[in-house]
Amino acid sequence: MKTLVINSGSSSIKYTVINLEDQSRLLTGLIERIAETESLHRYSLSDGSTQNAIQPIANHQQALQLLFATLSSTKVVGNDGLFCIGHRVVHGGEKFQQPTLITDSVLAEIANISPLAPLHNPANLLGIEEARRQMPDTPQIAVFDTAFHHTLPDYAYHYALPANLYQQHGVRRYGFHGTSHAYVAKQAALLLGKPLQETNLITLHLGNGASVSAIANGVSVDTSMGMTPLEGLMMGTRSGDIDAGIIFYLSRCLNLSSQAIENLLNKDSGCKGICGENDMRAIHQRAESGDQSAQLALAMYAYRIKKYIGAYFAVLGQVDALVFTGGIGENDAWLREQCCENMGLFGIALDSENNQSPTRPSGLISQTNSKLAVLVIATDEELEIALQANQSLSIKQ
Ligand code: ADP
Repeated sequence: MKTLVINSGSSSIKYTVINLEDQSRLLTGLIERIAETESLHRYSLSDGSTQNAIQPIANHQQALQLLFATLSSTKVVGNDGLFCIGHRVVHGGEKFQQPTLITDSVLAEIANISPLAPLHNPANLLGIEEARRQMPDTPQIAVFDTAFHHTLPDYAYHYALPANLYQQHGVRRYGFHGTSHAYVAKQAALLLGKPLQETNLITLHLGNGASVSAIANGVSVDTSMGMTPLEGLMMGTRSGDIDAGIIFYLSRCLNLSSQAIENLLNKDSGCKGICGENDMRAIHQRAESGDQSAQLALAMYAYRIKKYIGAYFAVLGQVDALVFTGGIGENDAWLREQCCENMGLFGIALDSENNQSPTRPSGLISQTNSKLAVLVIATDEELEIALQANQSLSIKQ
């Protein structure tokens, strides 16, 4: 049951081959800087050996050719072939609420949705199209970042805008990082020893992008990202929530074009905008050496998470666990402490010692008398995509 998972971005492709029988990674690779003169291909095998090569890779077609050549040259995929290929697709709109077997018409519909995610879906499609050319006989399944949030109630997904913008143009909250929220929710329920359908959670995915979800009885009922992955928490380079009026001010008073404003909000804002740095480890280093802008970025980052936690307690009423995941959520003990400080009102009591070194892969970092559990769970989006792709095929058969 070997499954290839492909995450095709605009300038890089991440891939991994997973054996679902024991969930082991047989091959994990990254092709970076596609279309630059010095593209980089790195991969590692299950025996720990790694390879790095710098070579020109002109486009996604060449990158995918290299990927499939590597599957054969490493003998990871031999005569037994691949059971299926799972593709990460960022935006599934309202149409795609489940993992979906890719056909020509599905591809056309994903392309139709691309205006909702112009930075992501076109790159996802390039990967899918080439993978289908290379492996036409292998079932390929699209797994959507938005799908987990299709259960949001209408009062949570509507924006207070003219109704026809939703009806005719799909302007609504979709939410993202769904694969990660879904994965850690399942893990959290296992750890709590409760059926997922009876578990209420607040899941915090804190990586370069960041989002929080309110999960009631196992399904997403609210989430901080919106129609695009720009809304919500403060992120590495994205602003998160701002007053929409700022956009008109930037346009009117600074004469910025819509493209310039989009770039500013997506690439030059968030932590980077406040302190010039988007990598959380570097921000901590600067804050510790007295840099006030880095200290401000950290304070804002934690404060905004805390506001969402409070809001989602109100949404859920009763919460079984608060779950931290993503590069920052899994590793940043200081931030977790800040987010849980003075939250006794909600029954949160962190165990400072466990918080410093949570046991992996899943760690309880709350005190035994805490009304709800605080968990650190390593996310695994590739595994979740592989599981969902396989499950959708077995349901079809
Ligand atoms: P992506 O969203 O691209 O998948 P990750 O989930 O890997 O990103 O998260 C990247 C972020 O995690 C970076 O800001 C990085 O600095 C942060 N990070 C990684 N390790 C640590 C650590 N030990 N302490 C604080 N932040 C960390």
